[in-house]
Amino acid sequence: MRRARSCGGVIDQRFDLRSLMMIVFSGVLAFLASPGCAVEVAVDAGHTLAAHGASSARGGREFDFNRVLAKRVSHELGLRQLDVRPINFDGKIESLAARPEQAAGADFFISIHHDSVHADLLQEWDWQGSPQTYSDDYSGFALFVSHDSPDLATSLRCASAIGARLRRLGFQPARHHANPPSGTPRAVADAANAVHYYDKLVVLYRTTLPAVLFEAGVIKNRDEELLLLDANRQARMADGIATGIAACLYAAQGSNGKPQRAAPTATVPTPLSGKQGPLPAPRTPAFRPFDTPLHRPSRTRSLSPPSPFSAPVPH
Ligand SMILES: [Zn+2]
Repeated sequence: MRRARSCGGVIDQRFDLRSLMMIVFSGVLAFLASPGCAVEVAVDAGHTLAAHGASSARGGREFDFNRVLAKRVSHELGLRQLDVRPINFDGKIESLAARPEQAAGADFFISIHHDSVHADLLQEWDWQGSPQTYSDDYSGFALFVSHDSPDLATSLRCASAIGARLRRLGFQPARHHANPPSGTPRAVADAANAVHYYDKLVVLYRTTLPAVLFEAGVIKNRDEELLLLDANRQARMADGIATGIAACLYAAQGSNGKPQRAAPTATVPTPLSGKQGPLPAPRTPAFRPFDTPLHRPSRTRSLSPPSPFSAPVPH
């Protein structure tokens, strides 16, 4: 198993206030200028072949949705020169705990899922001769973090960055998790960007790195299921997720044209207070223009949905 890489040098000086400020500043500059320090993101395909998670309104398996989007997110991260560590892309991981274990040493963990709704809220319908359940009342993406995260500040910052980028691309955030008519309410962390707390998820707290669980949308919603199966839309969503992660983890582009890793994920001494505190969030997130209009397929329910297996997915 790979361990965390060291990308910075050791600074050996005496600490008075002025030198401490210089150390922090020069340390960040040295960190940003360090070659070979690409950020690594562990991308987890939620659930498994054997335990596939939710079923969609048309009987599709959540794991298949998750794997397709996880591959697309990985592809987009690679385009931004971030390293990717695939977790459970074969659907055969042995346990929940094995996911964060396999991610140890990376810089960030994102688990990709697709949402269902509480069983009390489902209605029955017939899809191509087979009885299925659905709810068209709930939709949208959502992000979850745990209060018990070892790096809650970075987890929250990245979740908000992802949500903000997706909203800018035209994706709709879920609004029902804070006060659902059935099921467990989730405390709001960032209402605008659909970020909530979900403290009992193993992948979010039994980890050594900042972690986010992403729900791409509600596959029990008959319209949203079709949207979530659309390959162009999947690519745009993956694009938004990767941009949000890059914006969160990277500070600026270096002189060699590559994004440089930002030191701020760890706490450092705050020069003015002498206390431990996070560095400011990166302010130069833009890498490529992505603001072309969102493609949406027709919302005709009578069409057979494309198979999540058949969509061209980057490998
Ligand atoms: Zn799931």
